[in-house]
Amino acid sequence: MKIPAQGRKKEAIYQELKKRKEADFDYKKGRIFTSIYDAGEEAQEVIYDAYKMFLTENVVDPTLFPSLRNMENEVVSMCADLLHGDKHTSGTLTSGGTESCLLAVKTAKSHARKTNPNIKAEIIIPYTIHFAFLKACEYFDVRAVITPVTGDYKADTKAIEDAITANTVLIVASAPSYAYGSVDPIEEIGQIALKHKILFHVDGCIGAFIMAFNNKAGYKMPPFDFSVPGVTSISMDLHKYAYAAKGCSVLLHKNSEIRKSQYFISTDWTGYNAINPTILSTKPGGPIAGAWTAFQYFGEAGYIKIAQDTMLATEKIIEGIKALDGFYILGDPLTPLVAFAHKKYDVFQIADELKSRGWFVTSQLSSKVAPTNLHITVTIAHRGVEQEFLHALQEALDAVKKGYTLKKLKDDATTIIIKKLVNNMSADTLAKISDKLGFSGGETPEKLALVSRLLDELPNEVTQPMLLDFMSDFYTLEE
Ligand SMILES: *Cc1c(COP(=O)(O)O)cnc(C)c1O
Repeated sequence: MKIPAQGRKKEAIYQELKKRKEADFDYKKGRIFTSIYDAGEEAQEVIYDAYKMFLTENVVDPTLFPSLRNMENEVVSMCADLLHGDKHTSGTLTSGGTESCLLAVKTAKSHARKTNPNIKAEIIIPYTIHFAFLKACEYFDVRAVITPVTGDYKADTKAIEDAITANTVLIVASAPSYAYGSVDPIEEIGQIALKHKILFHVDGCIGAFIMAFNNKAGYKMPPFDFSVPGVTSISMDLHKYAYAAKGCSVLLHKNSEIRKSQYFISTDWTGYNAINPTILSTKPGGPIAGAWTAFQYFGEAGYIKIAQDTMLATEKIIEGIKALDGFYILGDPLTPLVAFAHKKYDVFQIADELKSRGWFVTSQLSSKVAPTNLHITVTIAHRGVEQEFLHALQEALDAVKKGYTLKKLKDDATTIIIKKLVNNMSADTLAKISDKLGFSGGETPEKLALVSRLLDELPNEVTQPMLLDFMSDFYTLEE
């Protein structure tokens, strides 16, 4: 494809953009239970207008735009206050949770290298940790030491202590974990970190903000922040439960000395002295202004109300799910992150049935500790649609029940055959199968249940190349 030879008129471009948007999932009615945080049109407008005011600015040189530097310092300070930091707590706004997690690992590695330049860095991560930490390990050549979780999906603290070696540079825990919404025993892990003098990062990317406001709203959360001795850094995404514009998270450190290990500095290249706090060099001003504006717009009272309403919606949905025949909740969610499974029926088919009724929930594969299940991230947008969702869930279950016996037989047979076949299959045959499943040509198959089930059954060696092909095709221009 080529850039249009001549520029087009704004009206024509915008019209086309609107048309293109029609293909997208309609999130405005609270029917999506992942990745979207929508506090309503007025909030969006206020925040996005602020974002637009700083679209061209670039924070690569913090001396040029004191407005943005000050807003960043203020947002960091408000976050530190929220998480019981003190006057030493320091932080940085990043482009999102992943960047905050990557930087937490980078900081720990650089920090350890100050005293031990040749250390073969390792980090200890419980099994339920977000994949951003596996990504950090791959990107930064750090060894991931994965420790088990207990029956309630919380980090096994003894296993963490046993896993410590002379190369351990960081322990990580979740408050809460994304997939099952479990909050790790932060206090106990903090004691271990103190005893062994190791940095301890709390991944509060998704939950720290709402947990802090749950406390203010009267829902008592287990201790998870800087009030816990031993915690040395916390990541908290503002583009999730703070309802800021996308592209904003904060990484807080116990003090500015540790934060210096996060910075990259080069005085040896041909240009200016480069000192980058984050992975990005050119850093947009929009997300900073957006986060600052979100804090001003909602205020503490607004966020408390949002937390209350979100928890009410969550409780209503949890109770409703439990009341539906055969469904059960994984663990004991204290925050709006909920995973649920069904005793008998295939949850992936239930997800498909929900989708055909306009509702989107996330299918989660089985793990060492849980069966296949469905994940919902409940937000303020779901307050008021709980009953509608539960009704759709009941309908979806009924629909799956109907075609069940035959379908189950077929699926079981498929599973057995596939397990048998897969070991002897050539790459060519596998490519054909993935093609049949819709894993090529850049199209997502309409019904995902069979695909999810296969992905759950097949070994990684088979699924990973398939998924990479799929993504590569997905990002190839259609003919
Ligand atoms: C969302 C999330 C992340 C990653 O954040 P992104 O903003 O998606 O990059 C990290 N940890 C947890 C627990 C999360 O839920």
